[in-house]
Amino acid sequence: MLLYEGKAKKIFEAENGRVTLFFKDDATAGNRAKEAQFKGKGQLNCEISAILFEMMRNAGIKTHYISKKDERTHLCHKLNIIPIEVIVRNIAAGTFCKRYGLDVGQTLDNVIVEWCVKDDDLNDPPICDDAITALGMATIDTLNHLRDQALKINDVLTQLFKSLDLKLVDFKLEFGYHANGTILLGDEICPDTMRLWNKNNESFDKDLFRLDSGDLLAGYKEVLNKLEGK
Ligand code: 5GP
Repeated sequence: MLLYEGKAKKIFEAENGRVTLFFKDDATAGNRAKEAQFKGKGQLNCEISAILFEMMRNAGIKTHYISKKDERTHLCHKLNIIPIEVIVRNIAAGTFCKRYGLDVGQTLDNVIVEWCVKDDDLNDPPICDDAITALGMATIDTLNHLRDQALKINDVLTQLFKSLDLKLVDFKLEFGYHANGTILLGDEICPDTMRLWNKNNESFDKDLFRLDSGDLLAGYKEVLNKLEGK
C-alpha cells in the first residue's frame, strides 16, 4: 500500500512495522517550479544513500535503514517523521546566501545547524528553537539530540568526502520516531539532499539541475564511483 509519494520517492507499507522507499527518477527544484526526469537517477540515489546509511550505522548513528532490497528500493523501519528539516552547513550556499546576501562559497567560522519547517506549501521556512517548542513540534531535549546527531553525521560525512576530494557544503536530514519511541535518522542522504563540490567548487549534486550548470547523471555517477573506490 502506498503511504506517501514525495518529489523523489514513494513510500510503501511493508510487514512488521517496516516500509519500503522507492527512489524515483524525478527531480524537482524550487518547490516544483522546475521539474524533470533523469533516467537512472533513482538507482544512483538508492545506491549512494545505501552506502551512506550503512556508514552511519557503522558510526553508531541509529537509522531507519535495514537493507537495500533492489536497485531502487530500501527496506526501512517505519517512522513517524518529525516535521523539521535539519540543515547542516559547512560552507555558505543556497538559501543561506540568498537570505543574508552572501557570496556562494564564503567560509563559515563554525558549522551551522538550522531547522526548517517541513511544509512545501510554506516553502520550508527556517524556524528557531523557541518557535518549535512553542508550537509543540519538538521539545528542547529532542532538538538537542537532533543537533548532536546532525553534528556527528557531519563529522563522518565531511571526513569521508574529504578523502574522496569532495567538499561537503551542506545537507538536509530528517528524523522520526520508531514505534518503540527511539529517534532514528530517516529519509535519504544523496546528491539530491546535499551539496558536494570539487576543489574548483564545481557541483556534483542537484545544483547541476537547479542551476542548469551541467550533467546531473554524470555528477551523481561520479559520486557513486568515488564511494565505490572506482
Ligand atoms: P538550501 O536551504 O540552501 O536550499 O539547502 C541546504 C541543503 O539542504 C542543500 O544541500 C539542499 O539540497 C538540502 N535541502 C534543503 N531543503 C531540501 C528539500 O526540501 N529537499 C531536498 N531534497 N533537499 C533539501
